[in-house]
Amino acid sequence: MDESSSLILRRYFKEYYFRYSDKIEQPLEIQSREFGYFPFGGGMVRHLSYRDIGAFRAILVKEAPAGVYCSNSYYLEPSAEMQKKGWMKADLIFDIDADLLKLRCKKDHDIWLCKQCGRKEFGLRPEVCPACKGNRILEFSWACPLCLEGSKKETFKLLEFLENDFGIASSEMEVCFSGNAGYHIKVEKNPLEQIDQRGRSEIADYLAGKGALLETYRSLKLSPDDPGWKGRIARYIQNLPGDTPPFRANEFPDRIREMTIKKKTADYEKFLYTAIDATSVKLDAMVTTDIHRIFRMPETLNQKTGLVKRECGDLASFDAMTESIALDDEKEVAEIVVDICPKIELGGKSYGPYRNEKHKLPLYAAVYLIAKGAAKIVSEPKIPAS
Ligand SMILES: [Zn+2]
Ligand SMILES: [Zn+2]
Repeated sequence: MDESSSLILRRYFKEYYFRYSDKIEQPLEIQSREFGYFPFGGGMVRHLSYRDIGAFRAILVKEAPAGVYCSNSYYLEPSAEMQKKGWMKADLIFDIDADLLKLRCKKDHDIWLCKQCGRKEFGLRPEVCPACKGNRILEFSWACPLCLEGSKKETFKLLEFLENDFGIASSEMEVCFSGNAGYHIKVEKNPLEQIDQRGRSEIADYLAGKGALLETYRSLKLSPDDPGWKGRIARYIQNLPGDTPPFRANEFPDRIREMTIKKKTADYEKFLYTAIDATSVKLDAMVTTDIHRIFRMPETLNQKTGLVKRECGDLASFDAMTESIALDDEKEVAEIVVDICPKIELGGKSYGPYRNEKHKLPLYAAVYLIAKGAAKIVSEPKIPAS
């Protein structure tokens, strides 16, 4: 990133932390948590610990870092090196991101860049560059309203699993927009906080439907009222529209009979894998499993977009691309040159697609495109004389 564009980002982050750092809440049992941040253009600073959030907020106002993090784990000595921290327990965390969903819209808005000849195009990354046949190709993912809707739907699936299969009350869960293209879910003050790395990996596998035994579902006793995965698969079969292959029947009991008794095993096995895939939760299992991670803090900025990681009040009506804007002053504009970007929706307006174009945009939209690496600043933002 060029110097002036980077300067604009830093100033934007600084202004945000200056105005809003008091919105960053003190985590539970703060004295047992590890904090960290990374400055623009610098390496991660971690193994920090505080007795009061005030001291950490002061650092954020002073440093205006690119990313701000806190451990989901609780330690005896949070500022010690990793092996000496003394792990006690950890909140259960989940990371859902549109990019993992591999939605069809990706081919319309993602961009690839050939490192060899510099060619840039919309679409999924090709195996080899059609221009120079080189294979060093970078991929840039973007999030459209369908992507955000997709990750919201995935989040609802996760919440249903947590409530019904794990007995976690919704009051024990915190759901935040990640500030990029998905959601972060945290479970606090629940007995599951004691569970180790291995147990967390089993939870991630369970949510993904990994290692499912297909015979479990090929039973005449399968019912939509069954708990857990059995009920989930039964309801999936029940809700299928009529004439959905491989089924010939349209009524649930007949479909179950068909699936259990019919000989064409391969068709029904394939169907069950599709049903498991559709019902499972797509999430980044590494995040759930890794108990030594520091996790982006709510109400801090995501350096990949300049948007806020924001807690969703009501998930169903939450509008990520409006409610997570850090500084939504429409009068503050910046002139940028956009290299290439798809159509984006931000603050209730749409911009682009742009290719080698100069535009004056609200500062938050300019910051978004700069943070995504798609634009450079031309002139300093200023409030127009009225
Ligand atoms: Zn090329
Ligand atoms: Zn999309």
